[in-house]
Amino acid sequence: MDFELNEEMKIMQETARRFAEREILPRMKEEGFKRDMVARMGELGFFGCAFPVRFGGSDLGFLAHSIVCEEVSRADSGLRSLFNLQSMTVPYAIMEWGTPEAREKYVTDLVLGKKIGCTCFSEPDAGSDLAAISTRIDDRGDYLEINGAKTWISNGTVADTAVVYGTCDRSLKHRGLCAVVVETGQAGWTARETAKLGDKSSPIAEIHMENVRAPKENLLGEMGQGFTVAMTALDRGRISVASGAVGLAQACLDASVTYANQRVQFGKLIREYQLVKGLVAEMVSQIEAARLLVRRAAWLNDQDRPFTREIAIAKYFAGEAVVRSAGIAMEVHGGMGYSLELQVEKYYRDSKLYQVGEGTANIMRLLIGDDALGIKKANRPRIHVPSSFRDLD
Ligand SMILES: Cc1cc2nc3c(=O)[nH]c(=O)nc-3n(C[C@H](O)[C@H](O)[C@H](O)COP(=O)(O)OP(=O)(O)OC[C@H]3O[C@@H](n4cnc5c(N)ncnc54)[C@H](O)[C@@H]3O)c2cc1C
Repeated sequence: MDFELNEEMKIMQETARRFAEREILPRMKEEGFKRDMVARMGELGFFGCAFPVRFGGSDLGFLAHSIVCEEVSRADSGLRSLFNLQSMTVPYAIMEWGTPEAREKYVTDLVLGKKIGCTCFSEPDAGSDLAAISTRIDDRGDYLEINGAKTWISNGTVADTAVVYGTCDRSLKHRGLCAVVVETGQAGWTARETAKLGDKSSPIAEIHMENVRAPKENLLGEMGQGFTVAMTALDRGRISVASGAVGLAQACLDASVTYANQRVQFGKLIREYQLVKGLVAEMVSQIEAARLLVRRAAWLNDQDRPFTREIAIAKYFAGEAVVRSAGIAMEVHGGMGYSLELQVEKYYRDSKLYQVGEGTANIMRLLIGDDALGIKKANRPRIHVPSSFRDLD
């Protein structure tokens, strides 16, 4: 077993760390969407680790992707959300399931940060239960027509390219789901921003689609295969999310160590108090364990081995670890944790997302528990359409 990152990965880690220090941290107080940041991260190859060179990537793989996500999240967890939309759940889903036309048309611009992506699963009545999706995707002969409403769509108000999940027959439940690439700037597509607690670098939107159209070559997989497309996209998205949780938890630790080394109470630095030490040790242990779990799952993906179970464990554990770490950081900072002067309150707000997005903590527990109890194996062979798009070059 080799725990050492290879030279290319160390370079990516160093590049991301330097970028975070020089370009993300100085703008931390500007919470909100920053288009120039998407472009910069695209230019630097941050979104492209898992993509072939011909599609704007570096072909370094998912472990490299995880490492970059962690570093960006350590500086601003909100920017980490972009890695789902500019890498995993939009262009990677198109790479895996899209037609050659769709790949050529959409992937490179998303990976290079020239276009903005969004993923539309959630609806007012369909959150964890994707089979309850009611957005219609109808085959109109020459084109696909989409009608419905989505909610909680990250970057929904700024996206150019959306992967929209809908149903061609609700009675079929998950077997009726379809996934299609939709261009957002067309009549019938409307997006309205809604307010949220944290993760403010990507605006959240409600989307309405009325007779929106997509060419048939924009279908991902086949009609009725959307649930499988979603499950593979979510597995990949969980790598970004779990890595982001580790990065944010690390930021909580960094801030706590700094503060504990400078705050004096009762005539001593608070780091001298065993109760404070214990809290810091708890963070360290959880972060190290979460990081190893995430890297194992990313590594399995790089070996083309099943990793649904492993990424569910990693995402669940890292989600709990970051929420606990953000709580501890607040505690270590005392009143200053509650102040808007420092970043700790932002960490606290951002942390809760990691128990919700890309499958809630409970959904991860169900998946892990079903697997352990022999009820449903998580790492089942899937009909994997795009056996290897890596052969394309
Ligand atoms: C900041 C943010 C960004 C997001 N971005 C996107 C995005 O870009 N695209 C998108 O499509 N969605 C997005 N979402 C939505 C997110 O994917 C959903 O919130 C998530 O899937 C949960 O769905 P829900 O909110 O409807 O909760 P629900 O599914 O209603 O769950 C509510 C509670 O019930 C629990 N629960 C549900 N079913 C079960 C069960 N069977 N067993 C046990 N417990 C259960 C859940 O774990 C949770 O605790 C985003 C959400 C947030 C907060």
